[in-house]
Amino acid sequence: MKPSRPASPLLPHVSVSETASLKRDEEFWFEDGNLILVAGDVEFRVYQGPLIAHSPVFNDMLSLPQPAEDSGRRTRHGESSCPIIPLTDSPEDLRHFLRVFVSSSSGKIIRSGQHDPTFHEVSACVRLGHKYQVDGLVQRYVDLLRKYYADNFDAWYRSTLVRPPSFQAVHSIAVVNLARLTNTPSMLPTALMDCCTLGPEIVDGLVREDGTRETLPLDDLGRCFVGRAKMAQASARIAHLMFRPPVSAACRQPACCQRVLQRLLNELGNARDDVISCVDWYASWMVYVDGRDEDRELCMRCYKMLEGERPKKLQREVWMILPAMMGVTVDGWGVKAKEA
Ligand SMILES: [Zn+2]
Repeated sequence: MKPSRPASPLLPHVSVSETASLKRDEEFWFEDGNLILVAGDVEFRVYQGPLIAHSPVFNDMLSLPQPAEDSGRRTRHGESSCPIIPLTDSPEDLRHFLRVFVSSSSGKIIRSGQHDPTFHEVSACVRLGHKYQVDGLVQRYVDLLRKYYADNFDAWYRSTLVRPPSFQAVHSIAVVNLARLTNTPSMLPTALMDCCTLGPEIVDGLVREDGTRETLPLDDLGRCFVGRAKMAQASARIAHLMFRPPVSAACRQPACCQRVLQRLLNELGNARDDVISCVDWYASWMVYVDGRDEDRELCMRCYKMLEGERPKKLQREVWMILPAMMGVTVDGWGVKAKEA
């Protein structure tokens, strides 16, 4: 049989001379693998089965009629049945993607257990999963992101984290882009909101593992410019409503607590600007309260009110208009009662 490799309009032609400096990947080079993927200057020798089972794109690439003109390239490793597919992905991205399938000769995706993925893993798996149409993989990572970039106020309020624990704020730039790539607009308000907390790096973006830089599109950058001001305004509004009467309905010493609330309200004039109009309008007020009620004159009920129910009510009001603050539209925002 004449050796050949599959042709595909997706695949650039790779000549033997172009592949002279290729190196084998240390993690993915199985001697009995039956497919060689080339990403950048790295070759990955893996198994076709799992990729064909989960990716219609790989299935198509590997089932197309095979031209004979690349026989030299094809037999470079001495195999007569090992197609070589050059990809436009980076080796770093492809490695994350392949880890999902490794050792999976049955075709079953093995990485299904609980783990705390890095940003780079999430980003690569969503982007390559989308490109190669591995829908289950994309959905799994999008579901993980949606736990943090939530569209349900109660779920979002309960969480002490505004992004996955291994993520930095700058990674929310990529989450905005992933939300658009996967058509998941429900993640946009919170992802854009996190971008609004960034400094100058909001323009510079983030550096991927392969050294390329990812930034916000200009229209989203504009949304953040407006959104950041609206977040500071929301903070200022919450500041001026937090300590207004009445005291807690269960207050045991209304006169005393009323006096303390009034003091907390008056003291706002002396507080730093970044307390009153901080960008993160969802930040707790308890450091401010503790610093101005050191003797704890507030009764426990009123203290709990300032810690919980009152900011929750005020934050919910902001949450309801968050998409508008961020300049996006999300169908059903705030009306869903579903649990995350
Ligand atoms: Zn009280």
